[in-house]
Amino acid sequence: MARVFVITGPSGVGKGTLIRGLMERLPQLELSVSATTRSPRAGERDGVDYHFLSSGEFERHVRTGEFVEHADYASRRYGTLRSELEERVAKGAPVVLEIEVQGARQVRAAMPEAVQVFIAPPSLQALRTRLIGRGTDGSEEVERRLAVAERELAARDEFAHVVVNDRLEDALSELVAIVAAELGDRP
Ligand code: ADP
Ligand code: 5GP
Repeated sequence: MARVFVITGPSGVGKGTLIRGLMERLPQLELSVSATTRSPRAGERDGVDYHFLSSGEFERHVRTGEFVEHADYASRRYGTLRSELEERVAKGAPVVLEIEVQGARQVRAAMPEAVQVFIAPPSLQALRTRLIGRGTDGSEEVERRLAVAERELAARDEFAHVVVNDRLEDALSELVAIVAAELGDRP
């Protein structure tokens, strides 16, 4: 039975929003808390939203092999700590990773049994509107993320599951159905 679920797709597509809904519907899921070198946004808490690390701390974890996967994204570093996964897998809890595409590829290589879901936007314009509407990033950062998104969207065919997040409720139902089927549960 699959125990690791990778949710990937471009920034602003709705991964975080969908994962919040997914975890309400399937409360046995646990979310892996990633490490990053970016600064916390307003309201984000260290150890809850991310482990916020300095570049030096992040690099030390890379050198000591503490990351399952890590990637550079929009001039910052992001990674999944082995400890986040191992603890949960050891106690039998299904784990959700919310990561970008390069990291998803590394997880695919290291853990081919993990279930990978690519979340796609209905259009690039919709993605831009969502990134701007979220209000967490300035216009330069939005443009940087959209440039990365164009490359990420080209990767969608690599993924076993693709969910287009057009109407949120429909996308959430699709995602819940995929995960529940893999867990052997009914949504
Ligand atoms: P990600 O985690 O992929 O970066 P978020 O979950 O933060 O994306 O969503 C980005 C923005 O888009 C948020 O403001 C969110 O409320 C909005 N959003 C998410 N899904 C939809 C949708 N289906 N339709 C319209 N807006 C959406
Ligand atoms: P944000 O800065 O918006 O929180 O995240 C930027 C991007 O980094 C998003 O696409 C998000 O999914 C991705 N990300 C978050 N955590 C990780 C991680 O642990 N590993 C990788 N590879 N990407 C991550």
